[in-house]
Amino acid sequence: MDKNIKRGIYPGSFDPVTYGHLDIINRASSIFDELIVAVLDNKLKTPLFSVEERVNILKELTKDYDNVTIASYDGLLVDACEKMGVHVVVRGLRAVTDFEYELQMAQTNRKLADSKVDTIFFTTDIRYAYLSSSTVREVAYFGGDITEFVPGIVAEMTYKKFN
Ligand code: ADP
Repeated sequence: MDKNIKRGIYPGSFDPVTYGHLDIINRASSIFDELIVAVLDNKLKTPLFSVEERVNILKELTKDYDNVTIASYDGLLVDACEKMGVHVVVRGLRAVTDFEYELQMAQTNRKLADSKVDTIFFTTDIRYAYLSSSTVREVAYFGGDITEFVPGIVAEMTYKKFN
């Protein structure tokens, strides 16, 4: 693996991916030579979309970026980082509520990885500051309009899940 390549990993549930996530992917992809978007396969939670579905959706939505790849992982993020040869984690910050959790995770990961993994944060674009996957799921569940929150194919697939 080429050590001079700046590689970042953007981990998350992406259940489903929103315009907020896509904005972070867009911005991070212009900073890193390679950006891996890593879908968490969390065995403790029952997601709306399977890992395969989430990976495929992300692949479709990022197909125009040469330097973005989509992967999935389970277990510890720091272990995934080691396997993929990444030292920088990308996360997004919306509000103070994100900050506490994100700070804790960033520090825990740094500790677990013996200071070999750092986290950088992108502040949310103000247009997406309120946006979360759980809100999207909830609004769709009650039949509300989610087309301003997620791309068309995601909206369609989300509504189908609740039909
Ligand atoms: P997780 O379950 O790991 O929090 P999410 O898919 O909810 O996964 O989010 C992944 C990352 O994207 C997190 O760092 C989260 O703060 C960030 N994020 C989610 N929604 C937005 C948004 N609207 N604007 C900026 N960052 C966001």
